[in-house]
Amino acid sequence: MIRSSLCLVTLALLTASVAAGAQTFPTDDPVIRRIWDEGMMSRSQVADLAQVLTDSIGPRLSGTPGLLAATDWVAARYAAWGIPVRKEKYGTWFGWRRRYTHIDLIAPRERTLEGTMLAWSPGTTKPVEGEVIVIPDLADGVAVSRWLPSVKGKFVLVSAPEPTCRPDENWERLARPATVAAMKAARDSSKRYWNQRTQRLGRNAHALLEGGGAAGIVTTLWSAGWGVNKVFAAHTRTTPVLDLSCEDYGLLHRLASRNQGPRLRLDARSEALPDVPMFNVVAELKGTEKPDEYVLLGAHLDSWDGASGATDNATGTVMMMEAMRLLKAAYPNPQRTILVGHWGAEEQGLIGSRAFSEDHKEVVDGLQAAFNQDNGTWRVEYIRMMGLTGAAAHFGRWLSNIPSEIEGIIDLDIPGVPETGGSDHMSFLCAGAPSFRLQSNYPDYRQYTWHTNRDTFDKLIIDDLKNNATLAAMLAYEASEDPERVPRDRRVLTSPDGATMAWPRCSPAPRSAPAR
Ligand SMILES: [Zn+2]
Repeated sequence: MIRSSLCLVTLALLTASVAAGAQTFPTDDPVIRRIWDEGMMSRSQVADLAQVLTDSIGPRLSGTPGLLAATDWVAARYAAWGIPVRKEKYGTWFGWRRRYTHIDLIAPRERTLEGTMLAWSPGTTKPVEGEVIVIPDLADGVAVSRWLPSVKGKFVLVSAPEPTCRPDENWERLARPATVAAMKAARDSSKRYWNQRTQRLGRNAHALLEGGGAAGIVTTLWSAGWGVNKVFAAHTRTTPVLDLSCEDYGLLHRLASRNQGPRLRLDARSEALPDVPMFNVVAELKGTEKPDEYVLLGAHLDSWDGASGATDNATGTVMMMEAMRLLKAAYPNPQRTILVGHWGAEEQGLIGSRAFSEDHKEVVDGLQAAFNQDNGTWRVEYIRMMGLTGAAAHFGRWLSNIPSEIEGIIDLDIPGVPETGGSDHMSFLCAGAPSFRLQSNYPDYRQYTWHTNRDTFDKLIIDDLKNNATLAAMLAYEASEDPERVPRDRRVLTSPDGATMAWPRCSPAPRSAPAR
C-alpha cells in the first residue's frame, strides 16, 4: 500500500509540472486560453469542492439527509458564482438516516470488527448480544421450518465465506501455479456447496430469518481487492443487515462452523424517516443566439453510502460544477444554452435523469450534445460515439481546438455502439439525442472504489479533476459554438450472429420508492 501511494504522489507531481509549464494551444482562441488559465492553474476550486462534498457532507444515499444537504450545497455554490440555478423536484424516496455501527466480537475473545449496516437497514435500539451461527445443511422445506425458530436472538451468517482475502493477482504473482489452481478449485466447490445450502431457504431468505427473530443478518460482499467490500441495500423491516469485511466475516465463519462459540455485540443505529422529496439540481447559462438549443453537462449527485461516494460520483459532480464556473468566467454568454444537471437516484436506476428527460422534451429536442461523467478519478481517456454515425466529425473538430495535454490521451470509439445500462447519458440517448459518457480509466475503479467502503477523498487525483473540469468546459464551449447541429443518425445495430437489434428504449422513471 505504501508503494502504491508513493506512486500516486509522484504521478500527481508530474502532472502538476506538465500543467504548469508546457501547455500547447492549437489555436489562439482567447476563450480556450481563459478556460485553461482558470481551470488548470491556481484558481482551480476542485480540491476544495471535493473535500467539502466528500468529507463534510459525506455519502449521498437517496432519501437521506446527506443527499438533501448536498442538493442545497450545490445550489448554493452556483448562486454564489452568479449562475442561475434551480432545484427541480421530480419525486420522493423513503427517508432514512445512517448513524453509527459498532460490531464487537465478545467470545471466544474480544475484537472490534470492521463492518457497517447496509443502506436503509433497520438498526438496534440498544446494544444487542447473541450467538453467531451458520445455516446448517437442511434437507428440505420441512427441515427449514423446523430449524427456523432456533435463529431467534442469533446472528446468522448468510454469505459464502471467502477462503482467502488476498486478491487473486497476489496469489498468481507469488504462489506456485498448482497452489493457485488448488485454491480456486476449492473456492469454487465451497461456493457451490454454500449456495445449495442457502437456496433451501428460498428466494426471500432475509425475510425468513427476520420472521424467525434473528438478532442480525451478517453478509459480506468482498470486492476482490485488499480490504475492500461493496456495500448495497438491506430489505428488512426490523432486523439489522450488516456487511462485514472479508477478513472478519471469515473469522466468524471459521469460529462458528468449528463450534468455537463466537458471540457478537451489535450497537447499530439508524432512523427511518418520512418520505422525502427528491431533486435534480439544474444550473444554466442562457444561450444568446440559440437559446432553444442545449449543451448539457451532467453527473449524478447521489451515491451509495458505504463510504463517501468520492469517485462515484463526487468526482463527476465537482468536475461539472467547476466546468460551469470556468464557463461563467470565460464564456458567460454562450450561443446555445449550457445546462448542467446534478441528477438524483442514479444508483436506483438513472431515475433523476430519466425524469428530467421526460419533463423537458424541449431540452431533448434541442440537444446539441450531452456530456456525462460517472466513473471515478483519473483523466478522461475514452469517448464512445454511441452508434451515432455523424458524431465523430464534430468531436474531431472540437478536440482539435483543445490543448494536447488534455485531448492527447483521448481515444474516440467510432461509430461505437450504445450501452445498455450505463449511467445518466443513456436517459437522453434512449430518446435519440446525442449523449456521451466521458470515460476515465476503469479497472481499479471497479475493484477498489466503485460502491465500496473505500470510496473516500484520499483516492481522488486532484490534478486529473482539474484536467477533466477543463475538458468539460472546453467541450461545452466548442459544442455551443459549432455552427452545425450534431446529427442524430444511428448505425444499424447487429448482434454477433448478424440479427438486427433494437436501439435502447426509454422506460418511464419511477417517481417514488418501491413499497418496502
Ligand atoms: Zn455512479
